[in-house]
Amino acid sequence: MNFPILEGGALLPLVESFYTIQGEGYNTGKAAFFIRLGGCDVGCSWCDAKETWNPKLYPPTPIEEIVAEALRYSARSIVITGGEPLNYPLDKLCNLLKKEGMEIFLETSGSSPLSGTFDWICLSPKKKKPPVGDIQKLASEIKVIIETGEDFLWAEQNRHKAGENTKLYLQPEWSRSKVMLPAIIEYVKSNPVWNISLQTHKYMNIP
Ligand code: SF4
Repeated sequence: MNFPILEGGALLPLVESFYTIQGEGYNTGKAAFFIRLGGCDVGCSWCDAKETWNPKLYPPTPIEEIVAEALRYSARSIVITGGEPLNYPLDKLCNLLKKEGMEIFLETSGSSPLSGTFDWICLSPKKKKPPVGDIQKLASEIKVIIETGEDFLWAEQNRHKAGENTKLYLQPEWSRSKVMLPAIIEYVKSNPVWNISLQTHKYMNIP
């Protein structure tokens, strides 16, 4: 799929933006303004944001508008997510957010090259379109979604590429949670380098 790169990333296909609480991973519980960009060609069967896949459905939005909206809220933390946000050059958006003193978190599969400057990179690698470059080394956290027992091996393959201080999380795929969570609990007890991440926003009924 071709992703529309407009004015070097000064316009981005915005699906939605909203103020909420980060539900997963290291920053769980933190208030943050989410920026969700359209476009992803990874194709995870269990994706809970399938409506974002086609970037043409979303208006190219000036980054100034996105940042102005973020400034209306109390928190100074931003989560850039998708879709796959690295389908676009994110330097311009990050520079503008930084000028406003924002702390920027990225949620990515790493399937496209890294751009932008971040305070925290959450890499959630997907077997269907593996990470490119050495983003595992640069990731602040690696969060692997566990749908079946085979995913533990995928998690380890990524862990071996991780940096020394990278936090490591296993997160049950939501619809398989009942089956996989007990397996994850046992895995983490035996391999305590890993931590468990849960999609707490779904328990809290917030976006
Ligand atoms: S990488 Fe993320 S947005 Fe893309 S299909 Fe997978 S879960 Fe959905």
